[in-house]
Amino acid sequence: MLDQGEIGRFVITLQTPALDLALCALAFAALAFLARGPASLHTARAATGEVSINLTLAIVDLLFVAPALAFTLAEVGGWMQRSGMALAFDWSALPSWAVAFAVIFAGDFIGYWRHRLEHTPPLWPAHAIHHSDTAMTWTTGLRFHPINRFTTALIDTTALALLGFPPWALVVNNLVRHYYGLFIHMDLPLTYGALGRVFVSPAMHRWHHVREGAGVGANFATVFSVFDQAFATHHAPGPCTAPLGVPDAIGRGALAMLWWPVRVVIARHSPQRGGRST
Ligand SMILES: [Zn+2]
Ligand SMILES: [Zn+2]
Repeated sequence: MLDQGEIGRFVITLQTPALDLALCALAFAALAFLARGPASLHTARAATGEVSINLTLAIVDLLFVAPALAFTLAEVGGWMQRSGMALAFDWSALPSWAVAFAVIFAGDFIGYWRHRLEHTPPLWPAHAIHHSDTAMTWTTGLRFHPINRFTTALIDTTALALLGFPPWALVVNNLVRHYYGLFIHMDLPLTYGALGRVFVSPAMHRWHHVREGAGVGANFATVFSVFDQAFATHHAPGPCTAPLGVPDAIGRGALAMLWWPVRVVIARHSPQRGGRST
């Protein structure tokens, strides 16, 4: 049984993410209103159902995935130190800004290939939950199945740790990817113009979320669009107004989404199969 002190500490632990969410909501709502005016309020109202699913999955992430990840990453980090597997490159010889740039660039390269893996049959059922939002808002960046959230963080952080990046650089990479990841899910017709050849814009990432047609199987990077251009997966003809979502019969509600990858595994042992994996 939890005593009162433990319950108090638990509540305090939850306050920081709650405050972070509230500040994000304020900042992104202000940004959307500045960019799109009253139309942004209409978008927000139309997205209410999807937003409540996204927030539910964010709470599951906070309560169950985050503690499991913290434990696993600490174990993996300890194992790497003991085995001496990490690259023996002295990152401290470089200025901090160069290390910060290197970790974000390397993190996006790793994330690009990890994301392509998530679009293959074994990992797609869990990743499909992120794609199932039909009314994308910044909260879509919080909508991940626990399996997807866990494998993403484990693959990205382990790969960067193997490159010998110091812990502070891993934190920088996580923060940039998290907040920039939320931003590119906003419903903004921003393409960045010529800068879109360097950075992923909200319009570019929206194409990644289209339900069918051009855009499916494109735009896997989060920060730098150069990776999609280099590996021939770039599709950014302008603002995206195509329908979003997935053809997979996931069903509505957070519970259906949590259960979906299990349903797919069961279905794969039966003659009936379906779903997108590109
Ligand atoms: Zn994807
Ligand atoms: Zn996305």
